[in-house]
Amino acid sequence: MDKIPAVLAGLLPAELEKLLLPLPRMRAVQIYKWIARGISDFDQMTDLPSSLREELKSRFRLYSSTVDNCYKDTSSASCAEKIAVSLKDGKKIEAVLLRDGKSRFTACLSTQVGCPAGCIFCKTGSLGFSRNLTANEITEQFLFLRMTALKEANGKKEHSIDNIVIMGMGEPLLNLDELRKAIAVFTDPAGMNFSRRRITVSTCGICEGLSDIADNGPYVRLALSLVTADEPLRQKLMPVSAVNSLAKIKETLAVFQRNGGGRITLELPLLGGINTREKDAVSAAQFAKGIETVVNIIPWNPADGLEFEGKPLREPEKKETENFIKLLESYGLKVTMRRRKGREVMGACGQLGVIG
Ligand code: SF4
Repeated sequence: MDKIPAVLAGLLPAELEKLLLPLPRMRAVQIYKWIARGISDFDQMTDLPSSLREELKSRFRLYSSTVDNCYKDTSSASCAEKIAVSLKDGKKIEAVLLRDGKSRFTACLSTQVGCPAGCIFCKTGSLGFSRNLTANEITEQFLFLRMTALKEANGKKEHSIDNIVIMGMGEPLLNLDELRKAIAVFTDPAGMNFSRRRITVSTCGICEGLSDIADNGPYVRLALSLVTADEPLRQKLMPVSAVNSLAKIKETLAVFQRNGGGRITLELPLLGGINTREKDAVSAAQFAKGIETVVNIIPWNPADGLEFEGKPLREPEKKETENFIKLLESYGLKVTMRRRKGREVMGACGQLGVIG
């Protein structure tokens, strides 16, 4: 049987150097830098002799996965582009490139195929869980989006992506080892050199993973998908919260901040008529007491087939959202609102997994 060529993207410098032996270290350094730039072909490594490029082509592959399709949402000034990616075993995932009004790009990456957390308001959660992604597969999404961003920016910008958010398909803290390795690749000074402060990991609140990050890092930015701090309601909306109490989550967040982690974003996806009560604002303010937080309001992005207590979920009305923000502010919370991006291609928060 033919040997499957090894994949180079997503390796750390020492791993790459070992794999490329007997090539000298200097060559491994050159190749590592090219991969970190997000190239699509060995022929783009223009400072390598053509004989070496041919040798690399015969021994290795740059990526393990492939981009099947791009879906571009141009419905607003800020656009989003979703990519559907086929993994080596034929499974599909999605990742999204978001651009703000100032032409800054953010890459939203997935960490699992499907998601075992099963939050009732999330399309990905309704798909069930298939498997964890490898660090390679997480890194490759970033590199594919980087190529897309470079095309969008006409290749002008040196660093084409400004932020990474781990908010795509899956619960990142249930795949912490591979996530850690991918973050090590993103932040490696010899390669992509991303600041940890420009990487945000969003979790539904897995205490074991939070504790591990609080004690051992990496001290990236953390976002907690709070949804509501009314515990009985939270348990109905997010099944994993039955074994991850808010008290324990808060304890781990406090340790994370004491150990050098920064401000925590509390994400509140607003479900019309469900978590927009005064009780939800009061409990959120109580939860936030003693930790440095900012609340991020995300009006729920519709996805077919999702319901709560027998009724289809609905977007909050404009007035309902405005009133709830006022309530949160009246209880002393700092509130921001996420701009809607990517809904036209089902690439907004909670919608991934619909195409492909
Ligand atoms: S919201 Fe996040 S953790 Fe919850 S089901 Fe969706 S992907 Fe999983």
